[in-house]
Amino acid sequence: MLFSLPSIRTIGVPLFSLCCLYSTVSYAWHNDHQHPSTFDTDVVKLKEANQNSQLAYDIVKSLTVEVGPRIAGSSGDKKAVAWAEAMLSEMGFDKVYKQPVKVRNWERGFADARVVLPFEQKLVITALGGSIATPEGGIQEAVVMFPSLEALSASTKAEVEGKIVFLNTRMQRNREGKFYGKVVPNRVNGAIEAAKLGAKAVIIRSVGTDNSRFAHTGLMRYDDSVRKIPAGAISTADADTLEAMFAENKKVIIDVDMQAKDAGWQTSYNVIGEITGSEHPDEVVLISAHLDSWDEGTGAIDDGAGVGIVTAAAKTIKDTLGQPKRTIRVVLYAAEEIGLVGARQYVSANKSSLENIIAAAESDFGAGKIYQFDTRFNPVVQKSAGVLYQALAELGVEYGNNQSGGGPDVSVLPALGVPVFALKQDGTYYFDYHHTPNDTLDKIHPEDIRQNQLVWSIVTAYLANTSFDPRPAP
Ligand SMILES: [Zn+2]
Repeated sequence: MLFSLPSIRTIGVPLFSLCCLYSTVSYAWHNDHQHPSTFDTDVVKLKEANQNSQLAYDIVKSLTVEVGPRIAGSSGDKKAVAWAEAMLSEMGFDKVYKQPVKVRNWERGFADARVVLPFEQKLVITALGGSIATPEGGIQEAVVMFPSLEALSASTKAEVEGKIVFLNTRMQRNREGKFYGKVVPNRVNGAIEAAKLGAKAVIIRSVGTDNSRFAHTGLMRYDDSVRKIPAGAISTADADTLEAMFAENKKVIIDVDMQAKDAGWQTSYNVIGEITGSEHPDEVVLISAHLDSWDEGTGAIDDGAGVGIVTAAAKTIKDTLGQPKRTIRVVLYAAEEIGLVGARQYVSANKSSLENIIAAAESDFGAGKIYQFDTRFNPVVQKSAGVLYQALAELGVEYGNNQSGGGPDVSVLPALGVPVFALKQDGTYYFDYHHTPNDTLDKIHPEDIRQNQLVWSIVTAYLANTSFDPRPAP
């Protein structure tokens, strides 16, 4: 048999055996949990439990194998919601529920591009998420290349009108992925800036650090006051080829045919699982990931990994330390990729109880090893969690700073007073695969995701079982 996990389609019979892969050990509740030495004992127990646990990995495996791609509002997304509800119930969460989220569904459709002049070549292209289609049969036009979005914006109508704009900015490799923020405006705003100058379409060098023939998709936007034009990304290898043609001072003409379409409104869901606090059920430690993915790969590193990590962390705490004092809430957000839609819905549906969140965080950067702990905690108490910082330092996770955004979906929370934290992962290779057909399970190293699971369980256990209270966020 190819896969050892029974399918979740068999709802009603034992769903799948993930929890059985994990040895379930329950400890009696001790009243002295606030004593620092008790936290140390908990850390020892969590480390022991983690040693042979593959839980986070097995969850991602189940999601990528049994569900696969799950673009917001698609049939894959609906399958993912059912999968998540079944998975959280099977894991023994005390409460499992979902929150409806209205999403605009988009279908990629066919995409093709080729160089017509000066040298005939096929280009690997993918539509950017949300793009309109080209006219049927495609667009054949001269290409004008710009090294950056700023250079495009500084250009003139005379240079751009009637042409296809090619935004060719290289992205550098970096552990924190800090060049993403520099390059991603090409993808998000390229169509708007190009259309302002009369372009017929925009293509970008993929926002990625690989040199492969996979193109990286991702969200793009339109501005209602600017004409909409089709937008696509070509692989970095094809961007090099195109660039070389310009270097010969030749006139470059390409043909782009993309048949993406808006597929209307759909309902998706934030799927939520809770382990109810034994002493302070109203106080919540919120740990999260996003359930949706792009449609090109199977959404393993983005963000099946996060789903596995935070779910496994919560379950490990319950199985190893018993019921937490405060409630642990695992939120699997809908529609992150198309603009934090589930996150905003979560805020509006929970407005009156946001102040009960002790701290929130999201795992959404693959499964690379965690090396840094950042927070946005009330500065008055931020330093009093020394016992936690010490425990993390022993695992090679150093305290970073108190200016964290906490991850995409929880980034909307600090402005509302909710403290956040981030466990920063090694993202050296993350942008080789991000939003490509190559985002698949084999890119996750079992040892690395196991380290993530342990670190998340330690931080979550500390926040759920001690009286440390970092509210409100600065
Ligand atoms: Zn993501």
